[in-house]
Amino acid sequence: MNAAETAPDYDYDLIVIGAGSGGVRAGRIAAGHGARVAVIEADRPGGTCVIRGCVPKKLLVYGASIGGDIEDAAGFGWQIGKAHHDWASLIAAKDTEIDRLEGIYRKLLANAGADLIEGYGRITGPHDVSVGDKTYTAGKILLAVGGTPQLLDVPGMAEHAITSNEALDLPRRPQHIVIYGSGYIALEFAGIFAGFGSDVHLVYRGDLPLRGFDEDVRSMIASALEGRGITLHSGRIIAKIEEHGSQYQVTFDDGSSLLTDKVMAATGRRPNITGLGLDEAGVRVSGNGAVIVDDRSCTSVPSIFAVGDVTDRVNLTPVAIGEGHAFADSEFGGTPRSISHENIASAVFSQPPIASVGLSEVDAAKQYGALTIYESRFRAMKNTLSGRQEQTYMKLVVSSATDKVVGVHMMGPDAAEIMQGIAIAVKMGATKADFDAVVGIHPSAAEEFVTMRTPRTP
Ligand code: NDP
Repeated sequence: MNAAETAPDYDYDLIVIGAGSGGVRAGRIAAGHGARVAVIEADRPGGTCVIRGCVPKKLLVYGASIGGDIEDAAGFGWQIGKAHHDWASLIAAKDTEIDRLEGIYRKLLANAGADLIEGYGRITGPHDVSVGDKTYTAGKILLAVGGTPQLLDVPGMAEHAITSNEALDLPRRPQHIVIYGSGYIALEFAGIFAGFGSDVHLVYRGDLPLRGFDEDVRSMIASALEGRGITLHSGRIIAKIEEHGSQYQVTFDDGSSLLTDKVMAATGRRPNITGLGLDEAGVRVSGNGAVIVDDRSCTSVPSIFAVGDVTDRVNLTPVAIGEGHAFADSEFGGTPRSISHENIASAVFSQPPIASVGLSEVDAAKQYGALTIYESRFRAMKNTLSGRQEQTYMKLVVSSATDKVVGVHMMGPDAAEIMQGIAIAVKMGATKADFDAVVGIHPSAAEEFVTMRTPRTP
């Protein structure tokens, strides 16, 4: 750190607003570099991912997937009577685990020597943050406040729809649920509720779920969701939601309607900037409220930085962590660096799951021109005895000119686990010949990625 950054007349060298994944990583690393750090949090340390996102969601995904395993078990000779699931005990177990993780986040900050200030932080100057009636000063301020579910301006939506926040804490599982949207969150929760036996209706405005994903993956997941008993209402817009006794009546734009126990809005997230004082501080935001930053994660105010979902770059936990770490190393560790936002793998924990790295076929064609496509559709070995008809899909998108693998996509069991390793190869610039030179692990689904030899005919 240089002398200006440790100016003694500031309370801290760094104040982080938001104790989520990005903020806690930045605070801990900066403190490790010798900075005096405070982290302000209005809710529970851990943030979206740990408290109301990735972690509790994945625990429920695990629980729901056991429903499918029980169905599959009969084909392997298991005789399991009618299974009963106790939703309340799952939610209680999940809550205990989240409490434990929150404790770990608190300890991580304490062990790093960072102060945790509990309350709502508001920027009141380039070096000032107020929490209640107290003001704290710092050489640098980092905004790591994340995002929040976005509710559409549809009559009844705000009053009657739940979001992923509430869906993780429902005291009872709905027998019938309408989920609006077909992005990551919609598909993940559709799989969760369907896995536990709810009648799930997925309503979305497009022709297929997961706009922006590879088209073949989109078609495959649509069939797979239907195969798992989820009713798809494509090309539909919700016009209004009304209370109807203990249920809700959801009316679509064509006048048709559905009666349901719960409506869940999964229609995107927006940067969580309300009440932060950004306007007054001169921190520029984009049309959707995302804090505008440069490669150093610096905002339009030189002493104020931002990382994670509030900047709406790539809204994934590991990206926020990477951005926070790079910020701390750059500003307090004397090693300026930024993270690459290219070829970041991600997964949708739907049932079956989807994972990908690199470009969809459509985007790759725009960027690279001629492509060679390798794909494989097959019934996983486990499904032969279980009788499940669901297929696994794998696809390699290869630039014909360079032989470089520019996109890899998969829908099927363990897609996320398989894609993480593939992402290393893609990040390193592997060619199809490199994939071909690898000997597969047999019998596995993953070996398909290194044994596909015949390109798809146009
Ligand atoms: P997404 O952006 O993935 O999906 C939003 C959905 O809402 C889309 O189906 C979209 O439709 C629909 N929608 C948006 N506006 C309207 C509108 N005006 N009318 C009708 N439908 C609309 O958002 P999510 O909320 O699912 O997730 C937010 C982000 O959180 C993700 O993009 C991802 O970055 C992150 N996330 C990552 C996860 C993971 O890594 N596993 C899990 C959960 C979240 P359309 O496609 O037609 O625009």
